[in-house]
Formats: sequence, structure tokens, C-alpha cells
Amino acid sequence: MLLIACPYCGNRPETEFRCGGQAHIARPADPGALSDAQWAEYLFIRDNPRGIHAERWNHVHGCGRWFNARRDTVSDRFLATYKMGETPQSQESNSILSTSTQAEARA
Ligand SMILES: [Zn+2]
Repeated sequence: MLLIACPYCGNRPETEFRCGGQAHIARPADPGALSDAQWAEYLFIRDNPRGIHAERWNHVHGCGRWFNARRDTVSDRFLATYKMGETPQSQESNSILSTSTQAEARA
């Protein structure tokens, strides 16, 4: 069974968690200035990389709190979990994410 490290509770079975989609999406500063297409892109368009992805997770059957995780979508391995507002400990995973995101954008 896959264990996920909740930053508040420690390692718990994956069945206690629910994925909340892509992490680190900033709300536009002035939503009224956006076109309908730009607003729709903010609401619905998400990255779907093959590789490392930053995601929001909820420990729904545990403490109920939200946190962020970096997960490899190929191996389903969690590289890091961290509380909202924090940055992941490994800067290497940031550079891997950037490289992966840029490669997906060019594809
Ligand atoms: Zn928890």
C-alpha cells in the first residue's frame, strides 16, 4: 500500500487522502480585466505533465487539512509533502519541475 506523509500526521495509507489538483495557481490580481477566455483558462486549464507535478492534497479521512506535494506522475512516488505556504525542502525538485513544465509547454 502506498503511504503518503501528511505534514501534520506522518505516514498514512493513500486511502485516507484525496487529490485536489494542481498546486500553486495564483488567482489573477484583477479578474475583471480578463477576457472570458483568460478567465476560463485560469479556472479550468491545468498542467498534466509526465514527471514531477506539484499538487494539493487533502487528508480527508485523517486531520482534514490541506497540504502540497510534489509527485512523480510516472512512478506515483511522492518526492515531498509540505504545508500550505511553505516551499518544498529540495530545490532540486523545483528545477526538475521547471524543466518538466517547460518541456510540456513546448510539446
Ligand atoms: Zn493529516
